[in-house]
Amino acid sequence: MIKDNIIEIRRGLPEGVKLVAVSKFRPAEELRQAYDAGQRVFAESRPLEFEAKVKALPADIEWHFIGHLQTNKLRHVLPYAHLIHSADSLRLIEAMNRFATTNSLTVNILLEVHVGLEQTKQGFAPAEVADILRTCADMKGIRVCGLMGMASHTDDTVRIEEDFAAMERLWNECRALPFTPECFTELSIGMSDDYRIALRHSATMVRIGSAIFLQ
Ligand SMILES: *Cc1c(COP(=O)(O)O)cnc(C)c1O
Repeated sequence: MIKDNIIEIRRGLPEGVKLVAVSKFRPAEELRQAYDAGQRVFAESRPLEFEAKVKALPADIEWHFIGHLQTNKLRHVLPYAHLIHSADSLRLIEAMNRFATTNSLTVNILLEVHVGLEQTKQGFAPAEVADILRTCADMKGIRVCGLMGMASHTDDTVRIEEDFAAMERLWNECRALPFTPECFTELSIGMSDDYRIALRHSATMVRIGSAIFLQ
């Protein structure tokens, strides 16, 4: 039951850690069940599905976007999104900044960082992140609120622990930089299978899909 899953997961989260319900590919009816269980933060990964759900569901939901975002799809997402977790290239951030200034918006983003083993993953290399933060400091339409990362797709918990530890270290380093904005407070790490490990590494948001909707 979706409701029971949410209650159970909530019980295991420390104060101040936000549960982001990843509702991609789930029908609106299931989001409604989660909503009725008190869940107000949802994340989607496809622009058109995101926009359709925003329009179909109650207005007090806080919508997050976690998928790869193409620059020609910004209008489906940016006007409604509280937070974009998946800012994964400077080109995308520049396009979001232009959209934001043209439309009098401020776009809250997390920089997606690539720490896992997979070669193909989107995101910035850890060594690039400081430069990106400095560049973003001059963008009026963009607020960098923190970092997002995914651990390697593996059962090896030691490896997962290392990936999250690397994210945590980088996040702390970023917070000490002079050009990092005050709003840079979020660390979005942890999914259904590994969020308990992420909690040991300063996660402030966990993104959970299957443990809510598929169990
Ligand atoms: C799908 C997805 C999740 C949720 O994954 P689960 O294993 O279903 O909890 C979290 N983050 C991102 C970026 C995703 O694409």
